Order: sequence, then structure tokens, then C-alpha cells
Amino acid sequence: MAEEDLRVLAEAEIAAYVKPLSRGFQLLVPEGLRQQALEILPPVQPDTDPDEDIERCPNCESQLHAIGDLDGVLFLAAVVAGGWMAYEGHPGRGVLLFAACALIIRVLARHRSAWQCGNCRARFSAGELDAARESRRRHAAD
Ligand SMILES: [Zn+2]
Repeated sequence: MAEEDLRVLAEAEIAAYVKPLSRGFQLLVPEGLRQQALEILPPVQPDTDPDEDIERCPNCESQLHAIGDLDGVLFLAAVVAGGWMAYEGHPGRGVLLFAACALIIRVLARHRSAWQCGNCRARFSAGELDAARESRRRHAAD
């Protein structure tokens, strides 16, 4: 389906491309050609909104940069600890320990500052960004 859309857009000389996502994929067109693309492809909503994968600063709309990330290290530690428990003859405890660590990582990741604005230097956690995005959506709907 996306290939068909791409062909139609290519014929109209709109440089669209497909970005693979974890669930399916996303058809992207340049912002300036969005309206034109929408007219060509009425049932499809080409997504030109970069908010999906580029986090924007709620203050100044500049691009945010991920701050050095400990999640991977913590996750590895959880795997090693769980594996060690299993190796020691306590696979049940190993799974429990791993699950507990995974939960802690999730909670930490949500509350600590994971993003910093390249412009105004403000820092945001994933939860704060979600809240900002939600309030922006509400404003847009008004
Ligand atoms: Zn900013």
C-alpha cells in the first residue's frame, strides 16, 4: 500500500519516503508539499509532524538532545543479576529480580531528566514532555 502511495506521489513530483516504525511504517512528505499530497491521497494522512521521533522543547520549540543514558547499563545489570540467580538454582527469584529491575528502570526513566534543549538548556523528563505535548494538543483542538 505504501509503495502504491509512493508511486502516486513520485508521479506528482513529491519527494515522499517511507520510514519504518516498530508498528508498521510512516509515510513522510516535505512540509511544504503536505497539502498537495493530501489532495492526491485523500484517504491517507501523510504525517509531516516531526514530533513523533524528534522531541521539541516545550519552551522554545528547539530540538532536544538525549542526555547520556543509563537505562542500557541498568538493564544489562538486571539481566546479569537475573541470570546469576537462575544459574545459582533460583530461576524463579531470577525472574522476579529481573522484573523488579525492569520496573524500576521504567519508573526512573519517566521521572529523571532525559532530554536537554540545545537552545535554552532546559531539561525535561519523558513525563514532562508527555504533559507538554498533551497540553499543546488541547490548545490545538480549541
Ligand atoms: Zn528550549
